[in-house]
Amino acid sequence: PKSHATRVALVTGAASGIGKAIATRLAAEGACVVIADLDLEKAQAAAAELGSSDVAIGVAANVTDAAQVQAAIDEAVLAFGGLDLIVNNAGLSLSKPLLETTEADWDLQHDVMAKGSFLVSKAAARVLIDQGMGGDIVYISSKNSVFAGPNNIAYSATKADQAHQVRLLAVELGEYGVRVNGVNPDGVVRGSGIFASGWGANRAATYGVPEEKLGEFYAQRTILKREVLPEHVANAVYVLTGPELSHTTGLHVPVDAGVAAA
Ligand code: NAD
Repeated sequence: PKSHATRVALVTGAASGIGKAIATRLAAEGACVVIADLDLEKAQAAAAELGSSDVAIGVAANVTDAAQVQAAIDEAVLAFGGLDLIVNNAGLSLSKPLLETTEADWDLQHDVMAKGSFLVSKAAARVLIDQGMGGDIVYISSKNSVFAGPNNIAYSATKADQAHQVRLLAVELGEYGVRVNGVNPDGVVRGSGIFASGWGANRAATYGVPEEKLGEFYAQRTILKREVLPEHVANAVYVLTGPELSHTTGLHVPVDAGVAAA
């Protein structure tokens, strides 16, 4: 695989939180970066923080819409002459118990994460295969794809779907030199819009912890007693997609400071 300094990366949901940290890290390593998110202005503002339009651009793309996804991929190729690395990061969490989860909740969670990452991977894979130079697809799944927690059946089920997409695409795209790997974060409170947009209050109520203490609470229940920040997830993406791990595909890397089996 090429070094990051010669690569073009597209990160979905990168106007905020973990995605923004991933885009920032990849740009710091010299990659040209496309920040794709729902809101064009926010995507462009996040890109401007990384540098001029020679190194980072923001595009509007709702990942649930195949035409918008295709347009974002086309824009990346047009702006930077190719595409090497795609991160399926866009997401949201409604975090409800089973009996309160509506059909619309279920559909939204699965549209954005399971279907959205399928659409992005499909459009991106076509480019990677045509280029004939390999590439990387990374899924930001979740600890919840493996471990069961309370009050988030729709979220966790769609994260498990994403995790299986990693295994399936690693098998299918291997012959083209495309690595497909996953990162499973947990407890990223500070710097995450997901927590700010209501999930924090929900988790606080679920665990009986004041919302402002959630970061500390999550840290204390980890093996390492450390708080996970967006930058730690970005580190994993950087390492997974670098030349040193050229022989690794279909892997899920936890970035959760250690979870003891229940
Ligand atoms: P965040 O809310 O800060 O970022 C999510 C981004 O996705 C936002 O910018 C949002 O606008 C964008 N987005 C939402 N729907 C979209 C759509 N349809 N199309 C395009 N963009 C869309 O939250 P975050 O914590 O940074 O989450 C990023 C990813 O990490 C998510 O997939 C989330 O499930 C995953 N994750 C987060 C945690 C955590 O502890 N914060 C843990 C495990 C997994």
